[in-house]
Amino acid sequence: MQGTRRRAAPEVGAAPVTQLAEVERLVSELDLSATTTHAELAAQLSTLRGRPIKIQPYPAAFVAESRRIDEPLPYGVWLPNPGADYVFYRSEATPTHQRHIILHELGHICCRHIGDRTADAGRAEPGEPDHASIANAVKRAGGFAEDQEQAAEAFAYLVERHTRPNLSATGETPAARYRLLED
Ligand SMILES: [Zn+2]
Repeated sequence: MQGTRRRAAPEVGAAPVTQLAEVERLVSELDLSATTTHAELAAQLSTLRGRPIKIQPYPAAFVAESRRIDEPLPYGVWLPNPGADYVFYRSEATPTHQRHIILHELGHICCRHIGDRTADAGRAEPGEPDHASIANAVKRAGGFAEDQEQAAEAFAYLVERHTRPNLSATGETPAARYRLLED
């Protein structure tokens, strides 16, 4: 977690990462083993970035609202809130899918896809996001540029390949996964 691994920490103001080679470098600098969980990875990224990452299902009110208006929530969203980054995910997804959704959002975070909004690293008091901020994050979820979606997806794929070697026998390549996009 020290030395060269520190490079996985964001440089404030640095450009978003979108190139596959750069995503591969970021993932190679993480401390991953076959048993690393997404929670452990989030804890590691929290330490590297000096900003907590909190992962939780969408609040019940959001799930109820999305059912009421028959508009499914994105599988996952990243909400950079003062003091902490939140990742919300759809809890009805299968555990494997949930893990992929969360890794994808961690990819957006690690690749700095919302540059300056994450620059409040000095804030000590993480506040729970309010309804309006979650609604904004949901609205924005489809708004990442396609190359950023591809980078987040490649991040998820590469972390899965490092942490679940049994899955790498499928013959999939990062380039193939690059085309499999989801929020
Ligand atoms: Zn995405």
